[in-house]
Amino acid sequence: MPPELPDMNRIAVLGATGSIGTSCLDVIAAHNSRLQATALTAHGRWESLAEQCHRHQPRFAVISDASLRAQIGGNAFPYKTEVSFGPDAIEKIACHPDIDTVVCGIVGAAGLRGAWSAIEAGKRVGIANKETLVVAGPLVMQLAEKTGSLLLPVDSEHSAVFQALLGGRRQDLKRIVLTASGGPFRGWSKERLEREVTVERALAHPTWQMGPKITVDSASMMNKALEVIEARWLFDLEIEQIAVMIHPQSIVHSFVEFVDGSVLAQLSPPDMKLPIQYALTYPERWAGTIATMDWTRSHQLDFQPPDLDAFPALRLGFEVARRGGTCGAVLNAANEVAVQRFLDGNLKFTEIPQACGDILIGHNFDAQPTLTELIRLDGWARKEMQQWKSSQSI
Ligand code: NDP
Ligand code: MG
Repeated sequence: MPPELPDMNRIAVLGATGSIGTSCLDVIAAHNSRLQATALTAHGRWESLAEQCHRHQPRFAVISDASLRAQIGGNAFPYKTEVSFGPDAIEKIACHPDIDTVVCGIVGAAGLRGAWSAIEAGKRVGIANKETLVVAGPLVMQLAEKTGSLLLPVDSEHSAVFQALLGGRRQDLKRIVLTASGGPFRGWSKERLEREVTVERALAHPTWQMGPKITVDSASMMNKALEVIEARWLFDLEIEQIAVMIHPQSIVHSFVEFVDGSVLAQLSPPDMKLPIQYALTYPERWAGTIATMDWTRSHQLDFQPPDLDAFPALRLGFEVARRGGTCGAVLNAANEVAVQRFLDGNLKFTEIPQACGDILIGHNFDAQPTLTELIRLDGWARKEMQQWKSSQSI
């Protein structure tokens, strides 16, 4: 039996000022008789957070960059909003007794602490921050099992798999097929990627509006790599049960294939508000603000296998999902820094997977790491990536 939705779902939006966070607040505002923004967090963009607080009047706000405390004037935030600072304050909010649901919309491994705290407290958790599962998937899933925390995927592919899985018995599942738009460089050869990628082009995603880190990840297909790892832990799958198909229209968000050969999919226009809303309303479905498919006109849906030679990040993702242990934490941290170096203009686009691969090979693998060890390796991989130089340029 799925758990019942509370009459008023009191929500903490971690990463409220980001792309997921602002979409989440739109969903909450459209359903304010059943959903309430009770706590909002941001890292550095405190003016945006203050503006959101004036609009949504939450009880709590957190600014995780504690160095900003001195800059913020006494009446920047509404009178009724209690403002606190630092990453510890995010952890406190995530497990607060007056919060029912925590939406994890922080980008990167920085999202792990808040997600962990929410899961430890047995909350209902909408998990957009895939890095949490990439870094510490097995530990996170064990914790959720222990506390009874309900993990609801927000990533569109994983939400699609979650929804399609409701159409059959778990033991009858054969495989899942994650779809990928292919990003702005779909169909490009390795050579063309070497020559023609610019930061501006990498940031122009054809179908989704997202934060800069995930947009670059989508262009390199590292995003799909992280999603393969996310799916492995979230749905407890063998690596052979996960496939990826390029689907440029981003309408079919993923497929689930059962042992009898029947394939179920979830379709909707590309808008993150739908998977966000479903995570906030599950097991209910609400009519809302989201554009729906127009079934009076023709649609074309294309599917192609991915090009692993041009986009080696995806191959890396399958390898990391297969090996597990410390690999996810190392790949994720290395990639976060590599993306930043690419955006800063001091790493070539095609060097992102190359450098991540080098750092993975060079790390001290452990098949069953503790959380402390994963956090230590995250720091190690970041330093390695800061210093990484292509063997060609030495
Ligand atoms: P954005 O960059 O748009 O937003 C990130 C949010 O996290 C902001 O609120 C930011 O605060 C906050 N943040 C950044 N660094 C820290 C930190 N060190 N500590 C605490 N908070 C921090 O990212 P997205 O919304 O695009 O992505 C968020 C997550 O959701 C990612 O894990 C991504 O992979 C996942 N996701 C996103 C999708 C999308 O459509 N955007 C789709 C599927 C998954 P501030 O604004 O103050 O900097
Ligand atoms: Mg996705």
